[in-house]
Amino acid sequence: MGVNIVLSSPSGAGKTTITKKLSQKYPNIKISISHTTRKPRSNEIDGVDYYFVDKIKFQKLIEEGNFYEYAKIFDNYYGTSKALVKKLQDQNFDVVFDIDWQGTKKLSKFKELNLVKIFILPPNKTELKKRLNKRNQDSKIANDKRLMQYDNDILHWEDYDYIVINNDLEKCFSQIEQIIRNHKKDKMSYI
Ligand code: 5GP
Repeated sequence: MGVNIVLSSPSGAGKTTITKKLSQKYPNIKISISHTTRKPRSNEIDGVDYYFVDKIKFQKLIEEGNFYEYAKIFDNYYGTSKALVKKLQDQNFDVVFDIDWQGTKKLSKFKELNLVKIFILPPNKTELKKRLNKRNQDSKIANDKRLMQYDNDILHWEDYDYIVINNDLEKCFSQIEQIIRNHKKDKMSYI
């Protein structure tokens, strides 16, 4: 059985970059690709970044019990598919969940997942603001909403096993590698 790693952070703290970097560097680490009702950004691919579905389809997936958890974030729904995660586990992959604090709380109830929960924080709010503006993929309104959400998001740090500050991407990444390495211990060590 692989390790199941949750990476959460306030929006813009670098979590998606880190998640992708992990799966690119280590073929044994796979990302749990969520379903979402959010519209794809220009650089996003269906089935790679998310499974993009409409609200009707998402509702159907909920009713059929397809999700470990789902949450409404910034007017859109996001959910973690049971079938996709189970498939990865059956193949002995380590799975990374890029999900928010609400999803982490719900996923934690599935004790068999044995989650390692990591919370990534930006060095401070001013830096976060700079990063969100630089990213510039979403509207200013969406970014302002994210900044407002920040104060609420960081309240949930206590639900996590590790807090990592993303001041320097490489340093932050190697701290996360070290955490995963420790949890793999005597298991097949590729990391
Ligand atoms: P974005 O729209 O910027 O890709 O993601 C917004 C937030 O949704 C991020 O904090 C991301 O971690 C979270 N998220 C993505 N997929 C899921 C999911 O399946 N469940 C939950 N609870 N949150 C998710």
